Amino acid sequence: MANKRPAKYDILFEPIKIGPKTMKNRFHQSPHCIGAGSDKPGFQMAHRGVKAEGGWAAINTEYCSIHPESDDTMRISARIWDAGDIRNLRAMTDEVHKHDCLAGVEMWYGGGHAPNMETRNTPRGPSQYVSEFETMTYCHEMDIDDIKQVQQYYVDAALRSRDAGFDFVNVYGGHAYGPAQWLNPYYNKRTDGYGGSVENRGRFWVETLEKVKNAVGHDLAIASRFAIDSLYGSGGIQVEEDGIKLIEMADHLVDVWDINVGDIAQWGEDAGPSRFYRQGHQIPWQKFVKKHSKKPVLGVGRFTDPEKMAEVIRNGELDIISCARPSISDPFMPQKIEEGRLDDIRTCIGCNVCISRWEIGGPPMICTQNATAGEEYRRGWHPEKFEKAKSDDTILVVGAGPAGSEAARVLMERGYVVHLVDSAEKVGGCVNDIATLPGLGEWSYQRDYREVQLEKLVKKNKDSQLALGGKRLGVEDILSYGADKVIIATGSHWEGDGTNCLTHDPIPGVDAGKPNQVTPEQIFAGKKQIGKRVVLMNADPYYMGPSLAEMLAAKGHEVTVIDGVGFGRYMHFTLEAPNMHRRLHELHINVIGDSWVSKVEDGRLQYYNIWGEGSRREYRGPGVLPREENRTHEWLEFDTLVLVTGRRSDDALFRDLKARKDDWAKSDIKGVYVIGDAWAPKIIADATFDGHRIAREIEEKNPQLPLPFKREASVWGTAYQPGGEYKQQWRV
Ligand code: SF4
Repeated sequence: MANKRPAKYDILFEPIKIGPKTMKNRFHQSPHCIGAGSDKPGFQMAHRGVKAEGGWAAINTEYCSIHPESDDTMRISARIWDAGDIRNLRAMTDEVHKHDCLAGVEMWYGGGHAPNMETRNTPRGPSQYVSEFETMTYCHEMDIDDIKQVQQYYVDAALRSRDAGFDFVNVYGGHAYGPAQWLNPYYNKRTDGYGGSVENRGRFWVETLEKVKNAVGHDLAIASRFAIDSLYGSGGIQVEEDGIKLIEMADHLVDVWDINVGDIAQWGEDAGPSRFYRQGHQIPWQKFVKKHSKKPVLGVGRFTDPEKMAEVIRNGELDIISCARPSISDPFMPQKIEEGRLDDIRTCIGCNVCISRWEIGGPPMICTQNATAGEEYRRGWHPEKFEKAKSDDTILVVGAGPAGSEAARVLMERGYVVHLVDSAEKVGGCVNDIATLPGLGEWSYQRDYREVQLEKLVKKNKDSQLALGGKRLGVEDILSYGADKVIIATGSHWEGDGTNCLTHDPIPGVDAGKPNQVTPEQIFAGKKQIGKRVVLMNADPYYMGPSLAEMLAAKGHEVTVIDGVGFGRYMHFTLEAPNMHRRLHELHINVIGDSWVSKVEDGRLQYYNIWGEGSRREYRGPGVLPREENRTHEWLEFDTLVLVTGRRSDDALFRDLKARKDDWAKSDIKGVYVIGDAWAPKIIADATFDGHRIAREIEEKNPQLPLPFKREASVWGTAYQPGGEYKQQWRV
């Protein structure tokens, strides 16, 4: 497609030289984790390759360990330890190079933050400290011999990186890793030539860059990621003190600076969730570097809007726009900007669900917006290409929430005639409510992307329809509708009787039918009066409880939480937890943890400590508890009780249709399927995936169940995975 971009974005497409290499434009995919590492070369190759195809000028690995002494297990990093890693990462660099794109590797030495649980090596650091991130890991304080050895690790890894086909190496000093620990007095307590003054604390970094540059600098560009302010104040690195000084000390050794802020224990200050940070939130720190460096400067900041990207370059704050999450959400963002197709961009919503899966240690990374993220190789999915419809079946999708709208979109992309029906006036389902919670406004992009695409697709295919705001379809309506296939995506609701993950039963006295008890949906509907003293009973580990508590406290209610699962526990993985806890503290929200509710009476509830039944366990005969009776019960009064307990599928329509299976043939219905929360409640990303998956597999014998995917597993008796078959898989 021809370039139709507005001239104001031209600046984003100007080439820029970084040392011996040239980036064709200003779009850089920053190092980010996906769970592929070096052991899943197909995943690594296809995920990075699809972005190179989408117009990025440079693509990086995730953090890449330079030696077994830096092992992040259970989290998955890339590794460039040996010939096997070179061979596996070469699959990525070869693929990236096919699209006139540079490939970079972020060389990682974790020091005391690397738990080394797989390799069992002992990490080394500037001083001996116990990591504030991996709080059981201590490092060994390096002497001069150790320093030389670890610096040689960087050199050897850079040489292996060159062999793997990389165009640039990044000496990684972000997130309190590697050389950043030497610069930062929080870690570096030395009194020799590597401690004390900033010149001494910066020495390890400067020497390492020198050695790497001498080894590979003629062939490769040298980048260095630098968290220029650790955000601790004078106890750490501050931009206008040590930050600028290090830039001046090492400027002659790098070809491009990669600037961010923060540390590893609270790295949500860098990968800021949209709940707390807008795009470009690091610019107030990043912009100092251009004034003190003669080299190009790149930086992340969840840039989603080309207007903002062009502005920061025009203002001289950055030279290159670096993106992690926006590149996951839309691997084709540069190409879409280039072609002037701004409303086709699948904008990152800043939920950090991608990060959460990696933090848990479970590949693959997933994305709320882009259901194909992580599925490029193993399922052969391409974010912008769809296999043509294999039949002229017409498809009715009931429910336009995350699952239904995505199913309808992908089916229409494939050329099917689809009717998407919802009694609500708007596409989006639960997202329409969720996006009204404090800080979650950007989550509405999940809906907006689908809404815009569906409207375009319906215009292209006049037989397809978006039927919103009509009457709710019943079984007879569907049987007589005339569709060949039916997909039910009717969502889920919060339990109104207290059923929860701790007891798996209703709680006596909990009844959302009462005027002083409310489910989240009832709060969103706004039909019930909320009293002054609110008690929120929480058995869900994600955002709903903390968000409602924040919303109600901000409106002046006195909020107490009875929590049985760890309030906002999952938000640790999305990096929202630290600021969420600060917010709860600011709003004087009282969280009574490790507790659950035994019964509710008029205006009061009884709760107990969930560990209150004693540690001794013994067999006491049938019908007798093996532990002591829990005697920790207390009463708490409320004006309104908020029920964030468990969720339940709205699957009655599906089950009723299933009960009429014998009538399907008479109505020429070939199949009825259920997806998303209506199948089982799940996070928005997984509901969206469900919709996408069934649309890709609708012709299969039983589309209800996913096709097997290609596993990158070690197979006994073979040295390496076979590889080489991916093109047929993911290039449709
Ligand atoms: Fe953005 Fe969320 Fe996707 Fe991550 S999971 S890329 S934060 S939309």
